Amino acid sequence: MTEESQAQLYCARWALPITSAPIEDGAVAIAGEQIAGVGTREALSAEFPGATVKDFGEAAILPGLVNCHTHLELTAMRGFLEREEGDFFAWLKKLTIARLERMTPDDLQVSAAWGAIEAVRAGVTCVGDASDAASQSMIALRDVGLRGIVYQESFGPDAKLAREYFEKLREKLEGLREFENARVRLGVSPHAPYTVSAPQLEMISEYALAQKMPLMMHAAESEAEMLLLREGSGVFAESLARRGIEFQVPRCSTIQYLAAHGILSTRPLLAHCIHVDEQDIETLKQADARVAHCPKSNAKLGHGRAPLAAFIKHGLKAGIGSDSVASNNTCDMLEEARFAALLSRAGGDRIDNQRMMNAEDALRAATHGGATALGLENHIGALAVGMQADLVIVSLGGAHQQPVHDPTTALIFASSGRDVRLTMIAGREVYSEGRVTTVDEAHLRARMKEILKAVTSDK
Ligand SMILES: [Zn+2]
Repeated sequence: MTEESQAQLYCARWALPITSAPIEDGAVAIAGEQIAGVGTREALSAEFPGATVKDFGEAAILPGLVNCHTHLELTAMRGFLEREEGDFFAWLKKLTIARLERMTPDDLQVSAAWGAIEAVRAGVTCVGDASDAASQSMIALRDVGLRGIVYQESFGPDAKLAREYFEKLREKLEGLREFENARVRLGVSPHAPYTVSAPQLEMISEYALAQKMPLMMHAAESEAEMLLLREGSGVFAESLARRGIEFQVPRCSTIQYLAAHGILSTRPLLAHCIHVDEQDIETLKQADARVAHCPKSNAKLGHGRAPLAAFIKHGLKAGIGSDSVASNNTCDMLEEARFAALLSRAGGDRIDNQRMMNAEDALRAATHGGATALGLENHIGALAVGMQADLVIVSLGGAHQQPVHDPTTALIFASSGRDVRLTMIAGREVYSEGRVTTVDEAHLRARMKEILKAVTSDK
């Protein structure tokens, strides 16, 4: 058989390649794991005469959505921490105790798999996932068929123990390599400036550079973090003091602190970046650091909002993340992108002169922007020949969407993950017309109910 006769043609009223103009009556040809053609239905039907054709009618074909900041293992904690919101310290403490003391490794794996199911059902094809149990998360991604980088987290605020903690981390990372495959990669994540000491940040940065391992870190998220670094005060400072842990107050912003301790030399992915000024943005740009903007999580926890319009204006590589569903409470990138645009507009931000963030900016951030934030832009994030066949088909025929004047506007301002009809990852239909094809959803649903009981028990 020729390659043309093996190709599959996916057609819809619109194809949105993102890195080139929208195509009316569009089609995408898939051969194996890759995109073999993008164009009008007419042109591709002529180019691939033997292809099987699937026509989705009133719908849009777009590159898979990229959720560049998740904690899929925490999916069992959806709705569990509402009472602690407003007190970030208490929120983190309750979450940590529940995760460490009440969830078994299998619970964490099921929880991550359920998060991966939610993701592919909402058109997400790739995640940047921070995990304290990376092997479980990597297995979950592989089982469901989701693409991603899983960043093994590291903790350790006491500088005196930095070498010991780092050696344990290095051992763990070496053992995790065997869980990698073509779609699931390993990364490393020093958790945050208030949970990892400066010498440990330096050791992890050096290691990540030497191993060419992607690095992700939470940065400039809360006021408490800012107070700790600028003044040595606030709840994080008090907690470290109570535990007898010495903290050298740098009296600078998070971004300058990370620059001073090697993190920025790794071209890291930094989640949140709310408390940043013009100088910080310039520093991030110079370092080619990337940002995971998490607007709903930041709003829900009352942390504020990151200046996404300024990131776009300065040409920073910025994507959008849901963060964990413990703080969101959903993983829905169309909804997240809409929220990002609305929040930016509500704050009066402008990208240049008078222009507000628009639907194109939001959809680009949720696809190509996320791919660049994860360093995967040569493989995913756009519909183009030779790219990985990661795509999503979203119905635009609903009462809440019709009439469609412009497909991008309809996707961002009138659609949600519930309108997704098909999610394809590396040429494989992982979700199609209401059904995840790779795992037993009913079994996992039942297991999630058991895990919820364990998490909420007062042991
Ligand atoms: Zn996070």
